[in-house]
Amino acid sequence: MTGKLSAPPDRAHKTAPAQPEDKPKRGARAVDLRIYRAVFNAVMSQRLPPGTRLAEAELCELYQVSRTTVRRALLRLAHDHILELRPNRGAVVASPAPAEAREVFAARRLLERQIVPAVMRNATPADLTRLRQSIAAEHQACHAGDRANWIRLSGEFHLILAELAGNRVLLGFMTELVTRCSLIIALYDSPGSPMCENDEHQRLVSLIEQGLQDEATDLMERHLLKIEARLRLAERTQKLDLAQALSGQDLP
Ligand SMILES: [Zn+2]
Ligand SMILES: [Zn+2]
Repeated sequence: MTGKLSAPPDRAHKTAPAQPEDKPKRGARAVDLRIYRAVFNAVMSQRLPPGTRLAEAELCELYQVSRTTVRRALLRLAHDHILELRPNRGAVVASPAPAEAREVFAARRLLERQIVPAVMRNATPADLTRLRQSIAAEHQACHAGDRANWIRLSGEFHLILAELAGNRVLLGFMTELVTRCSLIIALYDSPGSPMCENDEHQRLVSLIEQGLQDEATDLMERHLLKIEARLRLAERTQKLDLAQALSGQDLP
């Protein structure tokens, strides 16, 4: 473990994924965090299923804020791929197709393979402690059954790694990819208890600490493949065949 972070990325990225800065610097970009987080958490915990329409007027009423404020939060959620803005329907919860999900994972594997060696060059003992603290928080959320928080924190671990790689452009790409992955996992992960990633995250940090670059890079790749393999992406690729679905159900 040599060297230090040459250029610490700006604070705004530290609370990612998809948690906008607590005190936005520019008024024009200020986002109502209550609305943002409430929608984010509801989507991640599957309380708002894909395709659900979010009416602006209803949100104004619920949060007692102006339409401009609501619209800004919705725009930010759309920017983070949590919502889609549709011309005639307004904001709806995004529903990434299986093909898109696979592309997002493929892009992550490419980037994160490069991130591991960069982290090895840069990370200080304090950085490794920060990674282990993040793992502990994630592990707690996982076993408490707090799905929304677990998804957020398991993404956060990867974003800390991206941050430690010391490349802001890369961190920007990773922030988007991890947020999109969070939604994909929320939509497609097998029901029941979330996967405990604690073991693999712990091993990854140990390999980084020991400077075992090939092993760490391979583990990262296998880890991401394993998460993807757990997703039930195949089931939605087939269009529902109504006749087949209803066969034997007293059709005339
Ligand atoms: Zn992970
Ligand atoms: Zn566990």
